[in-house]
Amino acid sequence: MSNTILSLSHITVRYGQMTALRDASIHVDKGEVVCIIGPNGAGKSTMLAAAAGGAPVVSGNIQFNDKAITGVAPEKIARLGISLVPEGRHVFGSLTVEENLQIAGYIQKDSGQAKQDVERVLTYFPRLRERLKFPAGRLSGGEQQMLAIGRALMTRAKLIMVDEPSLGLAPKIIDQIYQILLDIRRTEGLTLLINEQSSSRILKHADRIYVLRGGVIQLEGRAADLADGEAIREAYFGFQ
Ligand code: ATP
Repeated sequence: MSNTILSLSHITVRYGQMTALRDASIHVDKGEVVCIIGPNGAGKSTMLAAAAGGAPVVSGNIQFNDKAITGVAPEKIARLGISLVPEGRHVFGSLTVEENLQIAGYIQKDSGQAKQDVERVLTYFPRLRERLKFPAGRLSGGEQQMLAIGRALMTRAKLIMVDEPSLGLAPKIIDQIYQILLDIRRTEGLTLLINEQSSSRILKHADRIYVLRGGVIQLEGRAADLADGEAIREAYFGFQ
């Protein structure tokens, strides 16, 4: 058995005439925090959607835990242990924080386990405990992001993919959310694949980075080796 939990090999995705990913390959090893960095429209969301079974993949192979999942339905992929936290968080605004978490636990048949998992999520996110009976729509952006991640944790996913968690949040909150994600990774051995538009705050939190631009992987490397940012800037902006 390999150490790789997710691999997308030579993936091409087309929306009609528009090629959103072109022969793109990435992999994520068990327990890693991998970040895909790229400008608007680079194809980052499409990459996560492809892994979650929600993108029109025209060629290439996707494997999760050594099992082929290309063309497998999103619900089935979720049950195998991949959870996607979409851009914009998409919590149920009129439901309370607690109800949002309970609904996300629907995948579990055992209500005792669902209760335990709400408690587990609240241990990681004490802020959500304070807001438990609040409608999610009244939470701040950072709290909503915490709730969206909490919902993914409710599914007991082995791999959580987060699409632009930093979007619209203050630097202090971004660092706080990453610290909690790293804490969960350390405690539970979770694997994380995260999309971000900017690399400035991410390099210190990620193990490995891919830079995606124009649907093509431009650069791959260990975050520690790319810390000066020069290679990332070149790949991101396409300087020669
Ligand atoms: P952003 O940061 O803006 O979310 P992104 O890097 O996540 O950008 P994608 O959302 O994957 O990029 O989009 C890649 C390209 O595919 C863009 O040109 C986008 O307009 C196009 N695209 C994405 N989804 C669809 C769709 N459902 N139908 C048609 N084109 C789409």
